[in-house]
Amino acid sequence: MTAKYIFVTGGVLSALGKGIAAASLGRLLESRGYKITIKKFDPYLNIDPGTMSPFQHGEVYVTDDGAETDLDLGHYERFTSTRTSQAHNWTAGKIYESVLKKEREGGYLGKTVQIIPHLTDEIKAAFRAASEENDIVIIEIGGTVGDIEGLPFLEATRQMRLELGTENTLFAHLTLVPFMKTSGELKTKPTQHSVKELRSIGIQPDIVLCRSDRPIGKDLKAKISLFTNVPLEAVISARDVDNIYEIPLLFAQENLDGIILKLLNLPANSRKLTQWKGMLKRMQSPRDEVNIALVGKYTGLQDSYLSLSQALVHAATAHSLKVNFVWVDAQDIEEGRPEVVLKDADGILVPGGFGVRGIEGKIQAATHARKHKIPFFGICLGMQCATIEFARNVAGLEGANSTEFDKRTPHKIFFKWRELKGITDLGGTMRLGQYPCRIEKESLAHRIYEKRSINERHRHRFEFNPAYEQQLSQAGLIISGKNPEHKLVEIIELEGHPWFFGCQFHPEFKSKPLQPHPIFKSFIGASYVHRTQRNRSNA
Ligand code: GLN
Repeated sequence: MTAKYIFVTGGVLSALGKGIAAASLGRLLESRGYKITIKKFDPYLNIDPGTMSPFQHGEVYVTDDGAETDLDLGHYERFTSTRTSQAHNWTAGKIYESVLKKEREGGYLGKTVQIIPHLTDEIKAAFRAASEENDIVIIEIGGTVGDIEGLPFLEATRQMRLELGTENTLFAHLTLVPFMKTSGELKTKPTQHSVKELRSIGIQPDIVLCRSDRPIGKDLKAKISLFTNVPLEAVISARDVDNIYEIPLLFAQENLDGIILKLLNLPANSRKLTQWKGMLKRMQSPRDEVNIALVGKYTGLQDSYLSLSQALVHAATAHSLKVNFVWVDAQDIEEGRPEVVLKDADGILVPGGFGVRGIEGKIQAATHARKHKIPFFGICLGMQCATIEFARNVAGLEGANSTEFDKRTPHKIFFKWRELKGITDLGGTMRLGQYPCRIEKESLAHRIYEKRSINERHRHRFEFNPAYEQQLSQAGLIISGKNPEHKLVEIIELEGHPWFFGCQFHPEFKSKPLQPHPIFKSFIGASYVHRTQRNRSNA
């Protein structure tokens, strides 16, 4: 069977939550027993988000195969069982790049190369890439209807219906229905205009998802139906919620999945959402809370740590706890004393990052956690900072550093190993995507994973310098995980500390609400123990 396609477009404004809507839809269709996948098409000209500022674009999400992608792919993996890849995120830049390459290679046999059909053909090929084996493929088109850049993508979408027919394609459009305080009512005009815009390029939506700050009643739905030419039952109210994991249930109440299956002429198997509901209930009724200090650069949106904060929420939910995020700017630690800034932390987490700003503060956070036996979790850059801290203050290697921050350091604890080895592949000098790691017996890592072979995703340039392994181990650093092929250090721990863990990889990318990541789960558990002990000694 060839896959059926659902296209999700957006109107009126950006940031209406199209990614979460697409992911929620995916969840619902999976709950009905269908095999689905979700892809994102972004009309901007960057080849991928890898080089874009996380403060502008949010987090860069890394897939198993090392694609640097839009953060919506993280939602797709967290909400559904799909595994995303290079073939799941496309930008106009990437599409143009392959068209222009083909043109240079003479692939168009002397024809004039045009947006229609050549670019749109390339987009359609990307719609279809890695789509086989799925019953339904959800395609999220980034941007807002009416954007110049988005036109070729919408044109390709229109052509898909012509090629595959109405039973095999479905158009869902997400719009905003704003509440006007002055008149005390919800306004449908922006939705009408947005759908009109879509229709002018040949796309009549089958479903409109109406985002609003309150539920949309029957009368208003009838009005939207009349003006947009969408049947009443397919006008879906998507009201604001406090918790993104509620959205699949909200859509289920509106029977969105039922309508989709009817339109795609697929059997409406019964819906299985028990586990999801249980998870949500636990998330919404925690028995207690735990404070986690996140020490990073927080000048911008917290979207730049999206997978990380979600992984903490998943792990806390597994313990029926609520996690309080204490966002600490690393520079404040440099300026203030760590014991003041980190006073309420039950656990300290130093996440990944790039660049020298705040490094000394992150190192001080690791010192504080080591000395006061506070659970410490260092991810990538955080692991590097903890190792540098140990080298300087325990192993006595004065001035120890990573060459990323100090090229002339007397002790290069982290350095560009791949560059020295002359390894450059798709990711250039960056180590990207999933790599295996072999875990030492009876380590904290072994207790966490309960197995000795794991695979985790990477995104970094600098590596632990093998020349310092012996010296640091002798001083009490436990090296409990290594890459089996190159013997690179992947996990560090501390002797005599209740919970101190640093990993070179990013476990947060693989955490899901129904499958919290074991490291995060263990970290939250240890932080809660620390909190209880702290409360007891304060009492
Ligand atoms: N900047 C460090 C490196 O490139 C860490 C990267 C990260 O934390 N993702 O190795």
